[in-house]
Amino acid sequence: MSLIKIVTIKHANRSIWGHLAEREKSLPLVTPLDIYPQFQETRGSWFWDSGMAVVEIETEDGVTGSGWCEDGCDTIKNFIELHLKNLLIGQEASEIEGLWDRLFRASLPYGRKGAALHAISAIDIALWDIAGKVVGKPVYELLGGPVRDPIPVYASALHPVGHEKVAAEAKTYVEQGYKAMKMRFPYGPGEGVKGMRTNEEHIANVRDAVGDDIEIMADAYMGWDFLYAKKMVRMLEPYRLAWLEEAFLPDDLNSYAKLRQETDIPISGGEHEYTRFGFQQIIEKEAMDILQPDLRRCGGITEGRKIAALAYSAGLPVIPHAYGVTHIHFALGTVNCPMIEYFPMPCWDSLPDVEVEPIFHGEPQPENGVVRMTQEPGLGVSVNPKIFS
Ligand SMILES: [Mg+2]
Repeated sequence: MSLIKIVTIKHANRSIWGHLAEREKSLPLVTPLDIYPQFQETRGSWFWDSGMAVVEIETEDGVTGSGWCEDGCDTIKNFIELHLKNLLIGQEASEIEGLWDRLFRASLPYGRKGAALHAISAIDIALWDIAGKVVGKPVYELLGGPVRDPIPVYASALHPVGHEKVAAEAKTYVEQGYKAMKMRFPYGPGEGVKGMRTNEEHIANVRDAVGDDIEIMADAYMGWDFLYAKKMVRMLEPYRLAWLEEAFLPDDLNSYAKLRQETDIPISGGEHEYTRFGFQQIIEKEAMDILQPDLRRCGGITEGRKIAALAYSAGLPVIPHAYGVTHIHFALGTVNCPMIEYFPMPCWDSLPDVEVEPIFHGEPQPENGVVRMTQEPGLGVSVNPKIFS
């Protein structure tokens, strides 16, 4: 028995995305607000960067687990401090399945998707950290892994910063051993035909830089509509994209399903979807070829496993959104998770001169396009306490 004694939630006033978040605030990238001219130019014009929320759960035996999430962090703090915590204190920490279900049911009046699920995700991740630490094993071993080791990662960057810079950046990733890389589209319907041509040129430039033996994919971050996408995929088909990501709003599954009928380019999405119920709808609609849950949003490791099982039975791979140890452990324990995302520093960019405290101690970094997990118990990282000051 290892009863939960203390649940704390801390709010770090900085993004889990680090310097990438700063870069994306000012560059031209298509977003869901692209159709509104006052918000068209940059994501920074509308985005709420709420920092990150870190949940720490301590058992009566003195074992502490950490979990984390982002987006809506003040609200998440309230959900946990004023409500969810009461369902955890005094309960057996290893009974993760039942605890998840209680949290989900108790939060239904305000939950089901969004920030309430971010809160449950962070709690779930902390409970898995405890489970590993209690038995002295890494989480992926508790998940029955490794199913493959190391885990391939793809380079995710290639912002539209000019053809020469982007081509040099893409070539650097090939030299660094990446076999796949993802770029961001600058434009959506708000920029009309000219923007479509610029989108195509961005993709053509990267394909030209890396040749035919590297996978390239591209992300529209919920910024397109069906007619726009229908025209864009015709223009993009010659470049053999490995996938086209998040073309539409997460709830617009009809457009995703229709687009799949329009093109041979695999259609992906799901980083803003929640729980097995949300992903089941994507699967039933045959709306996507690749599912991209984020375990810090969709319900944690517990729910990620269920989503992966649904995906497997539908013949779909799961390629989680964003980097982090949660996704490394998940990939090591999931047969239909062939790779994960990583955000390298582009060769044309660098960190600011001021010293920046790392968010995690012990987070493994990819080498030669793959990442290896340590044998540390639990999730294998500790959150740097200095990020809270
Ligand atoms: Mg994305």
